[in-house]
Amino acid sequence: IARRWNTTGKSIFSEMTALSKLYNAVNLGQGFPDYYGPTRLLEAISKQVLSCHNQYSPSHGEEPLRREVSYFVESTTGVIYDPDSEITITSGASEALYSAINAFVNPGDKVLVFEPAFDLYYQAIANAGGEAVPVRLHSPDTPVGVRGGGWSIDWSEFDSVAAGGFSLIVFNSPHNPSGKVFSEEEIDRISSKILKNNAIVLSDEVYENLTYDSHNHISLCTIPKIQHLVVRISSAAKTFGFTGLKTGWICAPANLTDAIRIVHQATVFCTSPFTQLGLAEVMSDKNWLESYLNEQKKSYAAKRNYLKSVLERAGYQLSKCEGTFFITANFEGLAGDMSDVLYARQLVETHRVATIPVSVFYKHPPKSLPWIRFAFCKKDETLHTVADLLLNS
Ligand code: PMP
Ligand code: GLN
Repeated sequence: IARRWNTTGKSIFSEMTALSKLYNAVNLGQGFPDYYGPTRLLEAISKQVLSCHNQYSPSHGEEPLRREVSYFVESTTGVIYDPDSEITITSGASEALYSAINAFVNPGDKVLVFEPAFDLYYQAIANAGGEAVPVRLHSPDTPVGVRGGGWSIDWSEFDSVAAGGFSLIVFNSPHNPSGKVFSEEEIDRISSKILKNNAIVLSDEVYENLTYDSHNHISLCTIPKIQHLVVRISSAAKTFGFTGLKTGWICAPANLTDAIRIVHQATVFCTSPFTQLGLAEVMSDKNWLESYLNEQKKSYAAKRNYLKSVLERAGYQLSKCEGTFFITANFEGLAGDMSDVLYARQLVETHRVATIPVSVFYKHPPKSLPWIRFAFCKKDETLHTVADLLLNS
């Protein structure tokens, strides 16, 4: 393998999914639903498989989907992106991130990343020869219900890391793995720093439709002072509960889009036309889309509440979960200072429940990090089985 990939091992998501299969465990590790997304979407895609041209789509995506994305983003954020020059359809948010990072990072460039962070950021930055500079979200030192309970920024730390300069920042809200939804005040402070450095911001908004209680998603594209610097990334996988769709999109000003499209073209050229056209068809029914997303949110909120109550009864201290379909749990009270990787492996063996250790989301994990991540995008019966496994075995 080329030297720049030397330090990248097999993905923890694949590892935990394989371990889960080996022990016939319930997989709350890798974030994918274990139920079907909307049948209507499957039907629309199937229809396209049988009737569309099934040859390469235009590199930047099928026009009907770019048009629907434009309507959708305008309806949720009020910001208008031009389907021809400012929207690019990608092979999932993963490819979007990879293409965008490789479009903007030169060897030696500093890229700010809030960590814990989705692993792909570090891998793509390293591939481009950039230097990922982490800014810590500090794990809650007090459980929810007592005080706080959220993953938080230490602003003096943020200021001193940012003082080193950066040309790109990867921002992710709602945030994987913490479940944090960044507040207006946090976004304002971060935006000021972005502006000061004239840095491009990759705003990974794949969980944009999954916020709970009174927490609202604030898209960075709605912040006027940095709008010209924002590359906004979405995923149909999260929005429609089908991670197999591998279709996402990037909205960005035309000058940034031009650069991203060069790398996208060199990476995958285009993504499958039938998925794009099927998505465009269902997204064109605005009433259906709105009610589907509302129902999905309600259903995830109920699943979150249920899993929270199970995990609390099992003895975990939980962090707040304001968005995404992940919840982080502190196992210190159950296993002392055991490493999170060991604890997660043991949990599969002893209780047949697979999770993700949070340290894998760090460039240099802190010495002690007694946190694991549970995904609750699962059937109610799956979550009931987890309750049984954690509470009665
Ligand atoms: N960003 C984040 C924060 C994620 O959790 C994921 C997980 N799937 C992705 C990007 C990649 O999305 P996709 O499946 O559309 O490639
Ligand atoms: N985003 C998913 C998660 O955090 C995993 C995606 C992947 O397997 N690369 O669980």
